[in-house]
Amino acid sequence: MSRKYVYYFGKTKAEGDAKMKNLLGGKGANLAEMVRLGFPVPPGFTISTEVCKYYYDHGEKYPGELTGEVKAAMEMLEKETGKGFGSAERPLLVSVRSGAAISMPGMMDTILNLGLNNETVTGLINESGNPRFCYDAYRRFLQMFGDVVLKIEHSEFEKALASVKKEKGVKLDTELDATDMEEVVKRYLEVYKKAGKEFPQDPWEQLWMSTNAVFGSWMNERAIKYRALNGVKEGDLLGTAVNICTMVFGNTGDDSGTGVAFTRDPNTGERKFYGEYLPNAQGEDVVAGTRTPYPMTRLHEINPAAYNQLLDIFEKLEKHYRDMQDIEFTVEHGTLYLLQTRNGKRTPYASVKIAVDLVKEGLISKEEAIMRVTPEHIETLLHPYFTNETLESAEKLAKGIAASPGAASGVIAFDPETAERMVKEEGKVVILVRPETSPEDIAGMAAAQGILTSTGGKTSHAAVVARGMGKTCIVGCEAIEVDEHAKEMKVNGKILKEGDWLSIDGTTGEVFMGKLDSVKPQGLEGPLAEILVWADKIRKLGVRTNADTPKDASIARGFGAEGIGLTRTEHMFFQEDRIFAMRQMITSNTLEQRKKALSKLLPMQEDDFYGIFKAMEGYPVTIRLLDPPLHEFLPKEDEDVRDLAKEMGMGYYELKATIEELHEFNPMMGFRGCRLAVVYPEIAEMQTRAIIGAAIKLVKEGMNVIPEIMIPLIIELEELKYVKAIIVKAADEMIREAGVDLVYKVGTMIEVPRAAITADEIAREAEFFSFGTNDLTQMTFGFSRDDYGKFVSHYLEKAILPTDPFQKLDRVGVGQLVKMGTEKGRSTRPDLKVGICGEHGGEPSSVEFCHMVGLNYVSCSPYRVPIARLAAAQAVIKNR
Ligand code: PEP
Ligand code: MG
Repeated sequence: MSRKYVYYFGKTKAEGDAKMKNLLGGKGANLAEMVRLGFPVPPGFTISTEVCKYYYDHGEKYPGELTGEVKAAMEMLEKETGKGFGSAERPLLVSVRSGAAISMPGMMDTILNLGLNNETVTGLINESGNPRFCYDAYRRFLQMFGDVVLKIEHSEFEKALASVKKEKGVKLDTELDATDMEEVVKRYLEVYKKAGKEFPQDPWEQLWMSTNAVFGSWMNERAIKYRALNGVKEGDLLGTAVNICTMVFGNTGDDSGTGVAFTRDPNTGERKFYGEYLPNAQGEDVVAGTRTPYPMTRLHEINPAAYNQLLDIFEKLEKHYRDMQDIEFTVEHGTLYLLQTRNGKRTPYASVKIAVDLVKEGLISKEEAIMRVTPEHIETLLHPYFTNETLESAEKLAKGIAASPGAASGVIAFDPETAERMVKEEGKVVILVRPETSPEDIAGMAAAQGILTSTGGKTSHAAVVARGMGKTCIVGCEAIEVDEHAKEMKVNGKILKEGDWLSIDGTTGEVFMGKLDSVKPQGLEGPLAEILVWADKIRKLGVRTNADTPKDASIARGFGAEGIGLTRTEHMFFQEDRIFAMRQMITSNTLEQRKKALSKLLPMQEDDFYGIFKAMEGYPVTIRLLDPPLHEFLPKEDEDVRDLAKEMGMGYYELKATIEELHEFNPMMGFRGCRLAVVYPEIAEMQTRAIIGAAIKLVKEGMNVIPEIMIPLIIELEELKYVKAIIVKAADEMIREAGVDLVYKVGTMIEVPRAAITADEIAREAEFFSFGTNDLTQMTFGFSRDDYGKFVSHYLEKAILPTDPFQKLDRVGVGQLVKMGTEKGRSTRPDLKVGICGEHGGEPSSVEFCHMVGLNYVSCSPYRVPIARLAAAQAVIKNR
């Protein structure tokens, strides 16, 4: 621990800077940095995060030196402002705000106007000459302090305010004059009494109680939930800092105001001044979404000088921080003050665009841009949207402010708990509809597919949080009237209830009745395409795709796939007309029967392969021989069994008996993969003929085809030799007969531990390896792929396993088999090409591991190809 706990920032000195985020929190560090840059920041001081840690480690006590340091900082503040803390002549008022190293918007507590009491309020009146403003400030402080520090019911204050308004016969707070506000103050003090609490008139007592409350809020439920949702583990951060700042007021009249602004548009990333301004208001009015603010141009109309000063500051801030900034500011009697700056939250689209633009503006390098894009960004960018056709026939209900783009349909939930329950327990897709959201709602927001609110602007809580989560969101949709208690909403004379379907388009702000079908975008364009081209230049890993149809192959090619790493030929047989022939084949009792079935399958397969090779022209295409878990193909319905028996000239009971015989206790470890080819070599032969036949056709058409035939589930060199001989015999014969030039390869999957262990032997015959990490994980853990869902959640909850090993490659276990298999394989065949085609091939951490152990490529589903391209480049940058 350092021996200094308090850091001053003001004209005389700034003790912190932007690099000290861990110690001063993001807000404190940036305030100090802005002072250093010469920007107008109200002076103040920060109590460090180390004090927060000390507070929790020592039973809510502070280090002994703290009081003295805070006193000294306050004296400096008094000197700089010419005011006195607790002074009845020129009272110094302060704000007390939280601020951790990561930004946690709205999660922790804030108190404004601290220092006011029955005496100082008169001082403030004498000084400002504006009693209404002063009593308003006092009653706001009473409300916040009561709510946050003393936990008095918020609604009690609302009731007291409402009673004064009612007596006066007015609706709006702004219609209350100074005397009314003084009355509100009186009633608020009575609220304290009624609640059995005492309002401390001593400003120092106010300050320490508020500091306790802010440190206390570090461990409140919503802050804990927020950190968990954002992957922050207990112990990652020391705690929150406390920032004590001179108050400036945006509510001292029409020449004052407050705003939130971004240096670029957080939705589109466009380089333009974006924000909202509310004249005669305090910051909380904007953030809470209770008053709908105006666009930034309003400030330009009222105070062009402050507007231009802001523009100038934005430019400098971006240059300095090399990123888009989110700024809070206040204008007090025409003078501009910055209250905060931080890297702004933005949509995934904007993240990518801003990263690319910053490279072009010379502010960051391509590598930095690549590191600023996350796999989740890409995921969301490739997410659904409503087509024009769908929209044409859709029933539009209302239009709000488009706050976070995308398209979502779901059933309505009016409160976060219901949303969470519907999603988690009932497996529903939910749209959360609220008047406005608050930090308590985040778990419900995270569970929901989309969020719709009736009030608030683009910088309201709902908008900021949804954007950060990459969720579709519409705010300020004033045409809807939400009744949370009746669990219904009214819109244009219609009533929608909990559980009714609703669709929202966060890109346009439109709300639609019912469920609308959305589609995924088919290609990459704009800045994302650009950044991925940069990534391609950096990455060492190749990126292929797993595709079973020509359509998937061309989608993947559009996403940048450089070939196919896995075509699962059994997937081609799920269609109605084919499964019949497939069933015939697997239930055949004689060679005759089987050959008949195979002859039906051969032309179908050849057609498929033709289409796939064509879609991937010029790139290698790995086709895997049949690997059907038999249970997925056997007929279950009586009617199907009868039809099949008839076709095969078998009796119903005879076929039933065969099916019975084929039943396996653990089909995932049963009669599948090359075991089928060992028992029925004719299957491998037919498939080879289909592959090579299709390739020959294309070669004759002048195309460049690169077939790679892959044998699944190999356990032993002799087994590989046996199956490979069948393939080579059939293939060479066909190529010779056709008289074409066609080079093909025969390789194997490594997906059984024994294959990884004997990889040096296996590589003598295999011309390439592809790690099937789905099976390799299953067999290394002994967790059946089909059944592990029953218990894996317990392993995760109890932290026995850090993550689901079927999603994220288990580096220390399964990963070691991958590493060893690769090394051993290359020891006997140095130019061995090695890839991965299990689900892990599109998961960023697994991709990084593949890079680290020197694989040649990863292969993943088409929509994950862009993610793999990015992750492969990030792996290079990270491991330099
Ligand atoms: C694997 O096991 O990782 C693999 C890709 O094959 P499948 O999932 O088809 O068993
Ligand atoms: Mg497998």
